[in-house]
Amino acid sequence: MRGVTTVLTAPNEVEQREYELPDPPSGGLLLEMLRANVCGTEVHILHGEHPLIGPGCVLGHEGVARVSRLGEGVRRDFAGEPLEEGDRVVATYFQVCRRCPECNSGHGNLCRNAYKGWSSRADMSPHFHGTFGTHYSVGPGQYVYKVPASISSKAVSSANCALSQAYAGCEVGDIRIADKVIILGAGGLGICASAVASKMGAEVFVAEMTPQRLQKASEFGAHHLIDLSQAEDSAQRVEMMREATGVGADVVIDMTGVPGAFSEAVATVRPGGTLVSIGSISPNRFTQFDPGSFTRSGAQIRASIRYPATVLGKAVAFIESTPQFPWEDLVDADFEFSRVNDALKAADAREVTRASLVISHD
Ligand SMILES: [Zn+2]
Ligand SMILES: [Zn+2]
Repeated sequence: MRGVTTVLTAPNEVEQREYELPDPPSGGLLLEMLRANVCGTEVHILHGEHPLIGPGCVLGHEGVARVSRLGEGVRRDFAGEPLEEGDRVVATYFQVCRRCPECNSGHGNLCRNAYKGWSSRADMSPHFHGTFGTHYSVGPGQYVYKVPASISSKAVSSANCALSQAYAGCEVGDIRIADKVIILGAGGLGICASAVASKMGAEVFVAEMTPQRLQKASEFGAHHLIDLSQAEDSAQRVEMMREATGVGADVVIDMTGVPGAFSEAVATVRPGGTLVSIGSISPNRFTQFDPGSFTRSGAQIRASIRYPATVLGKAVAFIESTPQFPWEDLVDADFEFSRVNDALKAADAREVTRASLVISHD
């Protein structure tokens, strides 16, 4: 049997190619994709801006699937639940090799072999390295979790990237009950962080430059919305956020990816508070920074990149336990799998927040 996967052939050019289906790897799985979403990183990859995923590679890292075949020795998911062919699952898009210095020091989210599978060329076996395919080959180092029947595929489709990253960011921020938490940026990650932080017991403020995005945040647990488009400059944006929280936020989570927002976030943290940096992932983009004021503030700056693999299991359980949040609305446009080019273009042009490829219907 053959399947189809999506290959980046050159920057801004993708092609769907057919390959013979591989056997599942020993200790891994062969999955049949149900849905795959276009996350912001996919757009960077499309432009040829990712340091590891370049032309010749397979696209797609977010999504939900069904087990097509279990690899040798696989009987359970990573939470210990029995796993069978036909079960719906989500998988971490990276592997945790457990055999490198980072893994050995307890930082599996920094595994130096994280993308060994994903960054392989499409013409290399097992071909189906990414989620933008009819099939997806999942290696033994990728953590897999079964999806409970009560959660729709659409609702869980963002779990293995957006929600897990946001969940990990809230844990890195060490959010406590009644903390005033500012989430900077109301895209997919910000919306997810709003939901998680509110359930952790925080008073959640979501701040955003594009006011149309703020409404959705209030459906995902935000208590206060800060429309930063009302401010004239950087100093006013900081002022607005500090005023909203009284003396500054206990925790600020920067999801924006805008270098200037990082400096504003530092200035918004209360003395002794914490800034978590998540959104800025492209190196060599700079911002002014005032180290003297920072030291005197006694604040902490923490980086959160990828997520500890077990967080994906918590993210799935979180969706299951919070039906009050409209999880399906994280995806705002469905495209048939053959229309992958249209989905990528719509995401690139910011016509949609999160496009989803419907690869197989439930
Ligand atoms: Zn992603
Ligand atoms: Zn490793």
